[in-house]
Amino acid sequence: MEYISTRDKSKQSYTSAQVIKMGLAPDGGLFVPANIPHISMDEIAAMRYDSYIMRATKILSKYLTDYTFDEIYEDCSNAYSEKSFPDGAAMTVRITDSLYALELWHGPTAAFKDMALQLMPRLLSRSLSKTGEDRDALILVATSGDTGKAALEGFKDVDRTRISVFYPVDGVSRVQKLQMQTQEGGNVNVCAINGNFDDAQSGVKKIFSDLDFSNELLNHGYFLSSANSINWGRLVPQTVYYFSAYCDLISSGEINAGDTVNICVPTGNFGNIFAAYLAKLMGLPVGKLICASNKNNILTDFLNSGVYDRNRSFHCTMSPSMDILISSNLERLLYLCTGSEKTAEYMNALAQSGRYEIDPETLERINNDFVGYFCDECSTADTVKKFYDTYGYLSDTHTAVALNCALQYRDGSGDSTPMIVASTASPYKFANDVYTSLSGHIAGSDLSALNELSTLTNTPITYPLRDLDKRSIRFDTVIDPEDMQKAARSAVMDM
Ligand SMILES: *Cc1c(COP(=O)(O)O)cnc(C)c1O
Repeated sequence: MEYISTRDKSKQSYTSAQVIKMGLAPDGGLFVPANIPHISMDEIAAMRYDSYIMRATKILSKYLTDYTFDEIYEDCSNAYSEKSFPDGAAMTVRITDSLYALELWHGPTAAFKDMALQLMPRLLSRSLSKTGEDRDALILVATSGDTGKAALEGFKDVDRTRISVFYPVDGVSRVQKLQMQTQEGGNVNVCAINGNFDDAQSGVKKIFSDLDFSNELLNHGYFLSSANSINWGRLVPQTVYYFSAYCDLISSGEINAGDTVNICVPTGNFGNIFAAYLAKLMGLPVGKLICASNKNNILTDFLNSGVYDRNRSFHCTMSPSMDILISSNLERLLYLCTGSEKTAEYMNALAQSGRYEIDPETLERINNDFVGYFCDECSTADTVKKFYDTYGYLSDTHTAVALNCALQYRDGSGDSTPMIVASTASPYKFANDVYTSLSGHIAGSDLSALNELSTLTNTPITYPLRDLDKRSIRFDTVIDPEDMQKAARSAVMDM
């Protein structure tokens, strides 16, 4: 399997090890497979007897053709082990008639990013020897919460990698801060920044563009890399769980092999929903993909009008992981629908003016597969409460946005096809807002919200979030943004 850049007319090709190591294409585009492998319904139906690890190995080996089946199996076995996912890697839970939650948050950080970040560092580590790279990778991450912790857990003690994470000192929740401050592992480093998320992000970008620093690192045996969601190694593991959910629904007798399902995904960077689209292109019988947004509804507008316009106000919501105005992975969809020339044009316009408009034929093609809905703050809280009161289903705020949009689509279209809703975080990860949505009261603090939610709903606190305040703090340094480079340097020199 060869990979090409979404913006490259000449279609220079790369191996999967190369694209996982590089992250971004040299022309600024994203890597996509040159052709999409197909999986037949017989193969899909046969996978219902396989473990999640084997399902992942079979699907990924269609893409990672320069990794052996045994290498992929070994990495998947370690990534999706019982130790990391004691309750199982991806669970399909029936909420009510033909409405299912695909729970992706039973991993070490209680958010769906674990599904990709438990595996991608292992693939990256292997890519170094495959590409003849003799230096090790230093991963830099700026985070507003979920990604940083998931990346730290994923890279923890992975061979030939080091990771340095920066977060805004007052820009993450108490739970998220404690998760990062107590991080274990011999190759990890965490710093708080006096500033906001943008300061942390600009600081990381500045380090990446500083050639002197890169050379200094190279001399010490390191090159810089990122764990960002635009990396193909983070995207491709996400196609697996849509196949897996389909197999589970066949096994439980909810559907027959060959039946069509719809999929609804709470969307930010367009990565998770693009993975579902990829599953459809590979042969999974998916009808509509419902793109669910919160009050930052730039994708809803795009799917309705064909105009992508980021010149609008940014809202902080109770589903912060979807508070995004540039959905990077949309570029991969544009490439598949219009080719590299137009994609490069649109991305140029986005960089210049913050806006682009696709032609009506392309919009029509996209609307064959995708519909967009959004859910405001008030409806998000109401949906958390309604699903708990009516069906006994406890959801986090991101999942609630998707549940709301799934019902909007169903009521508006009359399409009663079985619907799989991606459930992306544990309700305990956003315990404050979930507790308030259910009870109408405000919890005493971020940490006490965990216990208050547990008492109110008589459910256990998700395991990685238990006893957080009793673990010892390893990283409590707070630095100014100017000192980030120094911190990155000491991450490799002093460890
Ligand atoms: C990252 C995230 C999302 C958005 O996923 P994308 O792939 O960026 O669209 C949704 N929910 C949660 C809980 C997340 O952490």
